[in-house]
Amino acid sequence: MTDRRPVLSRAVHDRAAIRRRDTDWLAASWGTAQVLAVDPDYTVPIVETDDGPVLLWRTASTVDSSQEYVFLGEHDGTAYAVVRSARDLHADRWLGLREIGAELPEVEAGLLVEAIALAQWHDRHLYCPRCGRETASEQAGWVRRCTQGHEQFPRTDPAVIMLVHDGADRCILGRQAVWPAGRFSILAGFVEPGESAEAAVAREVFEEVGVTVTDVRYAGSQPWPFPSSLMLGFTAQVSGDPTLHIDEHEIAEAHWLTRSEVAEQPAYRRLPPPLSIAHRIITDWVDGVLP
Ligand SMILES: [Zn+2]
Repeated sequence: MTDRRPVLSRAVHDRAAIRRRDTDWLAASWGTAQVLAVDPDYTVPIVETDDGPVLLWRTASTVDSSQEYVFLGEHDGTAYAVVRSARDLHADRWLGLREIGAELPEVEAGLLVEAIALAQWHDRHLYCPRCGRETASEQAGWVRRCTQGHEQFPRTDPAVIMLVHDGADRCILGRQAVWPAGRFSILAGFVEPGESAEAAVAREVFEEVGVTVTDVRYAGSQPWPFPSSLMLGFTAQVSGDPTLHIDEHEIAEAHWLTRSEVAEQPAYRRLPPPLSIAHRIITDWVDGVLP
């Protein structure tokens, strides 16, 4: 049976949030914990096995216990954590989530996307957004607190990504002005403050290609920590005139394409990589799983 989960939404571990404040449990578990090093460029150590690439974990006993870590959760009785580190392990390769996320087994893909999202958040919250003072990590990496006591919690920014169809056999694929020639995908944009996801879908579609949509339907989500997005997938049906009027500042070109035209994947039109939820949504639409 085809696995239709977005590849970065395959997590199966227990985040065990209740343990983040349980210092006794964390201390007792540290001896057998598996720790992942994330380097300053957000790459991680990879080893090749007969079954494909896997993350190179180290046992916590080899990690300086004074080093700041983030507790990721538990799986099969083992605790997992992440530390920041230089490239000091004997890995076959150091790769980023974009390069390796789709190839890892589901447990490791889930742990890695959480690790990268939290590393990105910590790096961007060294100072308190309320008073500007330095912050420090607490609760096993799930809170940052400044000297005035203001707490910051890990955040994620919602974005919408939507396949717009005509209710029959065509959908819109476009190319953002900043993308290289030949790269096409479905439309996307950030949810603005005070806006619902459904309203963001309709607004972004109208802004980018000048058509109105109806029947906005949720189609799954995927974390996208580059640095902090959560992609909310949707389908939407064009209503009224389907003629595209593109915003040339954002979109270089956009077209209505049939399922067979999309499935054909000619060399001059490259679709998004398997890591992206866009790939998942486009594939599901071509396969008839989505309307
Ligand atoms: Zn503060």
